[in-house]
Amino acid sequence: MKFSSLYSGSSGNSLFVSSKDSSVLIDAGLTGKSILSAMEAIGEEPSRLMGIFITHEHSDHIKGAGILSRKFNLPIFANEATWLAMERSLGKIAPHNVRVMDKEIVLGDLAVRSFRVPHDAAACVGYTVEDAKGRLFSSVTDMGVFTREIHEGIKDSQVILMESNHDVQMLKYGPYPYDLKLRVLSELGHLSNEDCAKALLTLGAPHPRTIVLGHLSGTNNVPELALQTVQSILKEAGVVLGEGAQIDLKVASRIRPSAYTDF
Ligand SMILES: [Zn+2]
Ligand SMILES: [Zn+2]
Repeated sequence: MKFSSLYSGSSGNSLFVSSKDSSVLIDAGLTGKSILSAMEAIGEEPSRLMGIFITHEHSDHIKGAGILSRKFNLPIFANEATWLAMERSLGKIAPHNVRVMDKEIVLGDLAVRSFRVPHDAAACVGYTVEDAKGRLFSSVTDMGVFTREIHEGIKDSQVILMESNHDVQMLKYGPYPYDLKLRVLSELGHLSNEDCAKALLTLGAPHPRTIVLGHLSGTNNVPELALQTVQSILKEAGVVLGEGAQIDLKVASRIRPSAYTDF
């Protein structure tokens, strides 16, 4: 199985996941052009995609979904509440590409399952993708709090893209208007670096595991700080970090595709 974060952050999100025979995008929250150029940069053919899975209707997750669907005749998968909330923003989608998904969809040799994520959207979800060999990838962002359901959804995955949105001090003293600060900090907002680390500590085995920190804020976080904060909390708890160790920690870029994680 292969995973690359094409873009991950408050300015737009799109993740590429593929197995031997199938490949999918999770979210398409930049222009179609940006997503296609990122796919070209990692050497992937958009015509091989089998679908786009949408987490929720915010524009940093759906901006290019309509265009890509029309251009490559791609099905878009989302739950019913998300479809109702995003339908008008996507433009015209061919009826056969409007796919309402409940909990699980099987596409080729990939099974994609969703789990609920608390966020100020109609019905935000995270996804776990499983290949025929039982390898598991999960992504979870835009989460106000880390819940038991999220824990259950991601705990067995060898590779997880996990939100590490903001540094609480940077957010509190930064330029966001007061209302927006409260929104981000709320239980329907985004997960801080510190809370991300605490959530990771609850996961335990399987090891080794790769954790990619994602959906970083461009205003209230910097990659080095996110990495340092999470690293120090994990180390303090005795977790061994590094390639092949218990956890290999990485950060997804907001503006360019990450190297492949092969597993
Ligand atoms: Zn959101
Ligand atoms: Zn978002």
